[in-house]
Amino acid sequence: MIVKPRTKSRLLEILEILNFRMELAEDEKQYYLALEKGYRGELLNDLWVEKLKEEMLVLHDLLFEIKNTQFQIDTLIIAQDRVYLLDVKYHEGDYIYKNDGFYTLSGKETKNHLHQLRRCETLLRQLLQTLSFNFPIESYLIFNNPEFFLYNVPPELQIIFPTQLKRFYNNLNKRPSKLSEKHKVLANKLLDENIGESCYSKLPVYKYEQLKKGFTCECCNSLLTNVDKRKVCCTKCGHIEHIESAVLRNVEEYKLLFPERKVTTIGIVEWCGGVLSIKAIRTILNKNYKIMGLGRFSYFK
Ligand SMILES: [Zn+2]
Repeated sequence: MIVKPRTKSRLLEILEILNFRMELAEDEKQYYLALEKGYRGELLNDLWVEKLKEEMLVLHDLLFEIKNTQFQIDTLIIAQDRVYLLDVKYHEGDYIYKNDGFYTLSGKETKNHLHQLRRCETLLRQLLQTLSFNFPIESYLIFNNPEFFLYNVPPELQIIFPTQLKRFYNNLNKRPSKLSEKHKVLANKLLDENIGESCYSKLPVYKYEQLKKGFTCECCNSLLTNVDKRKVCCTKCGHIEHIESAVLRNVEEYKLLFPERKVTTIGIVEWCGGVLSIKAIRTILNKNYKIMGLGRFSYFK
């Protein structure tokens, strides 16, 4: 049972919008693409987790802090007699495992995901202890991109490769698991401890004036859209969206990017590229938001 579903982080949502409305610097773009790829990998792994039939509680995307140290968990599964900690990597390419580290084929040392996993397990154990639970923890590093290969791996390492995913989840399913009240209490305590998204320090600096205005496409985020009274058509992917839904979606983007700005009719006309009339935008805003204030000082909430 999914207790906490995965949602796209606000950071990724904002980067996704900015990527189409401004030129991201090369390092910002790389960071955005890495986040997006990681999220895609996590969603793919979630499909396996959803198929688990035994009684288990699943919590995705957790961020905890213990003794001023933060740690993040992709997926945590509470089963009858243990807790599974899954760290998902959607990397591709060839790597070599040596000296307890990960290296590229050219010999460059890269991030050590096993160290990261062990650190996470230690911190989770401490957290469980502070919550007065002493479930054993089984942690796994899951590489689920079929284009990934790691040479030289000793079989005892807790790593799951793409070709082992099916067996790994089948084996999880074969371990009988019956839950009781204490498991639910643990899940709820962990939800209370979850601090949500941490900081926005990794967001690029952006200003309203520098962003491109217009309707983004619901499917591909492109600004290459044609608009008429009833619909927004994307010239890039062909997707068609009803005008009201497109306006509301673009208003939500505006609110996400500029929480300090008030939603006004004129503001949204401009944000949507000036292709719809003031009257058309006002009608949609009136229908879906609460109007605050009077006349030219009015705005929508
Ligand atoms: Zn599109």
